[in-house]
Amino acid sequence: MRWTDFLLPTLKETPAEAETQSHKLMLRAGLIRKLSSGIYNMLPLGLRVTQKVASIVREEMNRIGALEILMPVLSPAELWEESGRWGIYGKELMRVRDRHGRFFALGPTHEEIVTDIIRGEVRSYRQLPLTLYQIQTKFRDEVRPRFGVVRAREFLMKDAYSFHRDEASLAETYDKMYEAYTRIFTRCGLRFGSVEADSGAIGGDVTHEFMVFAETGESQVFACDCGYAATEDTAECVIDVPEGSEEAQGLEKVETPGMKTVEEVTAFLKKEPRQLIKTIVYNVEGEYVAVLIRGDREINEIKLAKVLGSPNIGMATAEDIEKVTGGPLGFSGPVGLKDVRIIADRTVTGACNMVTGANEADAHYVNVTLGRDFEVTGFHDLVLVEAGDICTRCGKPLGTWRGIEVGQIFKLGTKYSEIMKATFLDEQGKEHPFVMGCYGIGVTRTVAAAIEQHNDKDGISWPISIAPFEVHVLPTNVTVPELKDTAEAIYDGLMAEGIQVLLDDRDERPGNKFKDADLVGIPIRVTVGEKSLKEGKVEIRMRKSGEVTKIEKGDAVAHIAEVVREEKKKLEA
Ligand SMILES: [Zn+2]
Repeated sequence: MRWTDFLLPTLKETPAEAETQSHKLMLRAGLIRKLSSGIYNMLPLGLRVTQKVASIVREEMNRIGALEILMPVLSPAELWEESGRWGIYGKELMRVRDRHGRFFALGPTHEEIVTDIIRGEVRSYRQLPLTLYQIQTKFRDEVRPRFGVVRAREFLMKDAYSFHRDEASLAETYDKMYEAYTRIFTRCGLRFGSVEADSGAIGGDVTHEFMVFAETGESQVFACDCGYAATEDTAECVIDVPEGSEEAQGLEKVETPGMKTVEEVTAFLKKEPRQLIKTIVYNVEGEYVAVLIRGDREINEIKLAKVLGSPNIGMATAEDIEKVTGGPLGFSGPVGLKDVRIIADRTVTGACNMVTGANEADAHYVNVTLGRDFEVTGFHDLVLVEAGDICTRCGKPLGTWRGIEVGQIFKLGTKYSEIMKATFLDEQGKEHPFVMGCYGIGVTRTVAAAIEQHNDKDGISWPISIAPFEVHVLPTNVTVPELKDTAEAIYDGLMAEGIQVLLDDRDERPGNKFKDADLVGIPIRVTVGEKSLKEGKVEIRMRKSGEVTKIEKGDAVAHIAEVVREEKKKLEA
């Protein structure tokens, strides 16, 4: 491709709207342009990279026997009503209405549609297992779109769905997917980890997220040397609870005028935060639940939502707290609390001589003891893990890293097939619901994640497998015939070798051309300059290392073709 025939609008200034490196560089290097909040045009350079990622994904899906299909973006509300998700998916689901007043969702995911296909087409166990996938535009009405294509409202995704007769068959495909994902991200030149995660709105019990390591990543991961890794949402840790050797003192109500926070109360009473029990009242679809946790820890609301069996939980309002506990916000406690379900985090196990709110203004209890002064209906793991907490598997402290989630795989079980009555017949002619799995990869997000990992102060530095071009030929002055002709000859020679080449044939100052080359980040640059050419040589510069070698111009094509092959080999999986 000749630069003068291409649309490659690079920017010198960093657009003010961009926060992360990938967002800045995708704008500056002319990959994307913003159309509206969270909605981007993909320009030619950006689309080339996106298509390369998509074709790696496609190759690896095909390799494990998944079949490519294409489902519509518009999915009828009736299917979402059948699964129950029309109501529970919330505001992230984009909804549209046609001229007849019928509702449709702009698909954020396709479990309902694919289950509908299968229940219509697959009847026998002999047709199983079966995996279908598509690479398609997805929609999500983000509250706060940000980081460019990382958290966009419209993006390209690969989503795959597998159907099985039993859990064992699902487990086999799940493992194959796990391996395919590992190959995909390795081939894209990414450093990544897989972590145990929460299944959120998709559902199912077992799920792994694939995270690309990035300081700007939105996801915090807790990981241990033993191999354990989990997202903040699901991470578990060992809880240190006292031995229970302490003798329970008499319950006493004390005045704590205006003291509402853990810090204020404990400082006033000359106690440690861990000697206090926080009582937080939640509104769970109109019912109130009091949740207890030790004063030095925080509640993980994702874990709590799971325990309560509802995604729709929120802290009760001050007004509701007054109604439920009889006391104002900041003074709640479990002692004497009636007609409210009380559950507790494991940190409250064996609670003895603790401080709690007294359910009246400006008062707390001291020496509160579990069993004598209050009871709970159950203990659960509700704690938000912190760095340095102890690994449940090996007893070592957990470390943390940040990442961008690029893929997630789920064992769904029969969640969708049962509710949508998608069944097959076994050998005995007996009907069973399909056992399902689903598997997503954010294609556009993977492009951004790759830039987060592969950039420096001058711009992007693409892994060759997903680079928009493999070689960048740069004559320093196209008005000098010898430079121009040599560059053209190398360009033609490389193209004949099947190499993807960008020729900067612009009549521009060399300084600008070099700056743009570094910004766009094609892995191998061939500079055809006057000084080297006087010695009959051209310069080959590796974008990542900055390493420069001079080659006889006659050997250039063969040499570069070899470098391209070697670079590609490094990313094979
Ligand atoms: Zn461990």
